[in-house]
Order: sequence, then C-alpha cells, then structure tokens
Amino acid sequence: MAAYDYDLFVIGGGSGGVRAARMAAAFGKRVAIAEEYRFGGTCVIRGCVPKKLYVYASQFPEHFADAAGYGWTVPEASFDWPTLVANKDKEIARLEAIYKKNVEGSGGETFHSRAVLVDTHSIYLVAEDRTVSADQILIATGGRPAPHPALPGHEYCIFSNETFDLKELPKAIMIEGGGYIAVEFANIFHGLGVDTTLVYRGQEILSRFDMDLRRSLHETMERKGIRILCHAVSESVRKTPEGKLDAQLTTGETLTVDQVMLAIGRLPNTENMGLEGVGIELSKTGAIVVDKYSRTNVDNIWAIGDVTHRVQLTPVAIHEAMCFVETAFKDNPTAPDHDTIPTAVFSQPEIGTVGLSEDDAIERYPDVEIYRASFRPMRHTLSGRDEKMLIKLVVDGASRKVIGAHILGPNAGEMAQLLGIPLKAGLTKDDFDRTMAVHPTAAEELVTMYKPTYRVKNGERI
Ligand SMILES: Cc1cc2nc3c(=O)[nH]c(=O)nc-3n(C[C@H](O)[C@H](O)[C@H](O)COP(=O)(O)OP(=O)(O)OC[C@H]3O[C@@H](n4cnc5c(N)ncnc54)[C@H](O)[C@@H]3O)c2cc1C
Repeated sequence: MAAYDYDLFVIGGGSGGVRAARMAAAFGKRVAIAEEYRFGGTCVIRGCVPKKLYVYASQFPEHFADAAGYGWTVPEASFDWPTLVANKDKEIARLEAIYKKNVEGSGGETFHSRAVLVDTHSIYLVAEDRTVSADQILIATGGRPAPHPALPGHEYCIFSNETFDLKELPKAIMIEGGGYIAVEFANIFHGLGVDTTLVYRGQEILSRFDMDLRRSLHETMERKGIRILCHAVSESVRKTPEGKLDAQLTTGETLTVDQVMLAIGRLPNTENMGLEGVGIELSKTGAIVVDKYSRTNVDNIWAIGDVTHRVQLTPVAIHEAMCFVETAFKDNPTAPDHDTIPTAVFSQPEIGTVGLSEDDAIERYPDVEIYRASFRPMRHTLSGRDEKMLIKLVVDGASRKVIGAHILGPNAGEMAQLLGIPLKAGLTKDDFDRTMAVHPTAAEELVTMYKPTYRVKNGERI
C-alpha cells in the first residue's frame, strides 16, 4: 500500500466527498481530496444552504402582513437584493472555510484542482500539472443543472447556479420545471415581489410526492399569486428590443419576462474525467453504476452521492460516504440504506414527507387506512391568512404500521425529521395513538386522528 502516495484520493469536495475524506483521514488513512470549484460543493455553495437563506428572505412580506392581526403596525418595508446576495456570500465563504478546515484538521490534504483519472491508481491534478497515485479512489463529483440545447434561445436562460447571484432582482420570471428546485424558487421569487410563472410539462407539480399535498400546494401557491401552467413547455425564448425575454409556450401563450430559469433536472458530473479510459461503467444518463456498497465495476474505485443518481440529497451523500469508509477501510461492509428517507420541500407552505404516498401504498398493500386532517393553523386565526395545513398518515391496515406521513404547512420539514424516526422504527398507528399530544400545536394532529378518514381495500375506497 505504501507504494502509493495516498491510501485514498477523493475527487469532489462536496457533501459526500468531504465527509469521506474527513472520516478516512481521522481513521489514520493517508487521504487527499481535490475540488475544482469551491469546497462545500453544491449543497453549501449553490444548493441547500443559500436556497434556505433565500427562502427565509422571501418569507418576510407574509410575516409583516400577518403581524397586523396581532396588533402590530409595520411601516412600509423595502427589500435590497444586493444586501441579501452579499450577506449570503459571507455566510457561504464561512462554511466553505470550515469544510476545508475539517478535512485538513483530520489530517487530510486538500487540492484546489480539477482531478482526472489517468489509470486505476493514478489521478492527474490539472491545476498542479502533476499526477498522484492512490490505493483507493472515491468519485464524488456530484451533478449540475441539465442544459436544454434543443430550446431555441436556451442561451438566454439561467439555471439554479446563476439564480443565486443575479446582478438585479428580475421584475418578472418564468421558471420551467415541476421538481422541488423549480417549486422552491417560484416561491422565493414570488415572496421577494417578483411576478412569477411556473411552467411544467406534467399534470401536477412535484411528481413522486403525495397527490393530496401536490394539489393543495398548487392551489395555495396560486392563491398567493404565483401562476402555474401545467401541461405546458417552452418552445423558444427570444430577446426583445427592450431587453426582455419572450418565452413562447406550447399552449400558444407568450410570456414576457426578465429572466427564464430552467430547472428541468440534473446531470451527473462524469464527463472528461477519464472514466471511459479506465473502463468505469456508466448508466444511460451518464451516472456512475455502483453495487450496493458504492463500488464501481473497477475494484478499487468507488462512487457516492449525486454522481451515482441514486437519491440526490445531501444527507444521503453523507450517509453513503460513512458507509464507504466502513466498507473500504474498517473491514465492515456496510450498504447504504435508502429506505424511508424523510425529506422536505421548502415551498411556502412547506412540505415535509416520509415514507409512501397514498397512491404508492395502495399499489403495494391490499388494505390501506388514511388519516387526514385539513385545518387552519392557529397562527392564521388572528392573522386572517386564508391558508390551510394538511396532515396525513398512511397506515397498513394489516400490520397497523404507519408507512407514510405527509405534511403541508409551517415547519413541515422540521416535523418530517422527527417523523422519520417512528417510521424508520416501524412503529404502528397504536404507538402514535398512545403518545401524548403537545398542546396547542399543529403537530398534535399526528397523535389525535383516532379514526381513519377513509380506507382503501384492494384498490376500492370505502
Ligand atoms: C438548488 C438546489 C437546492 C438543493 N436543496 C437541497 C435541500 O434542501 N436538501 C438536500 O438534502 N439536498 C438539496 N440539494 C441537493 C444536494 O445539494 C446534493 O444532493 C448534494 O450536494 C450532493 O452531494 P455530492 O457530494 O454528491 O455532490 P456535490 O455537493 O455536488 O459536490 C461535488 C463536487 O465535486 C466537484 N467536482 C466535480 N468534478 C470534479 C473534478 N473532476 N475534479 C474536482 N472536483 C470536481 C464539484 O465542483 C462539486 O463541488 C439541492 C441541490 C440544488 C441544486
């Protein structure tokens, strides 16, 4: 092993790569990691973290409006986009430094360079113009927004990456896509006062989530003033003489906006990295194919995180990293567990969800009980805001296990984290029922819905 420069070389300094480098180095391995852009990766630099900061920024107008019912008079508020961007930059720079320091503090070496595979044990560091060797190699290069080269005028469009650093806040924006990134940005821009239209080719936003939540969120977003056009796709984007953009839709409508943001999926970062030369198997979408332990078809090369296109979430990349270190270095083969992953959509209102949707549960189980409560949260009684909260439990009638929990409303993401524990533990509806409520909260509905709202037996609702 000492014949190599390192025991482990990690390519990509994002959520997964940094965790793996840190853990392996702390375990006494000789580790190096290369990052071509900024340590922290998508999540820290242009994903979860700046996104959530912008979500907070966009929520203030509603807080100001809601304050009146509680007796407050709030003077007319104004918003300064450059201040938000600058403060976000400061926070991101702080986190970036921490990520790098964490690797180095554990004894790992960091390189600011693109890394390319030369052979199964050699890595070329472009910025350093030198080749290093490693016994084990971990690819954690993440993904990037999918471009849309077939769209005439695609060169005028932006993606989530650029959105965080726009020179000025647009007056009007069209966002194409129906996934969580498109939906979250539609809410962010609307909250910041931008005239926002969401254009989605499918029948309802947020496919794969529970249909009840999808419809309720759609309605609430429209009531707030966000236009949502389903069954629609842009056919072209043209620049107008006034410097605006005309997006021509398949519906025949033309939207005149300042920015068009495409959020139509993400592609794995596997190009021009020497993977083909080394013989690493890729899927049709370009993702790295791995076995259940995150090992590629080349024995000493592994891949984790978004580049493998399994579940594209930060905690999943981190979990896969920890499992990789157990398997590769601690003689403890550990397959990542992708079952029952709690997740949130930071829309407004928020979605928090874990386990099976109602439709998926009906496909898998012959007897499904649905417990459903839709109500106005207490906070909105005095604020007068016409917004409902939705709480739903999906239960397997035979075993009584709670197999899905879905929430739409304030703090739903926080609740999903906590619900992840009983669902992962396989607890039953009876366990929920004998849990004391916390009053007055919205979450108390989770333990006080004693009777099913309806039941679906062999596909029939009764
Ligand atoms: C807008 C947005 C919002 C998101 N919000 C959430 C959220 O709320 N919650 C959540 O869980 N997830 C969220 N995600 C997803 C999350 O960011 C990813 O799942 C996570 O970052 C994946 O981690 P990773 O380590 O696989 O890759 P990444 O974090 O993408 O890191 C890969 C790194 O590799 C580097 N790299 C690529 N090629 C090379 C090379 N050849 N040499 C050297 N370096 C290279 C890249 O520059 C990058 O820094 C969001 C993503 C986006 C885009």
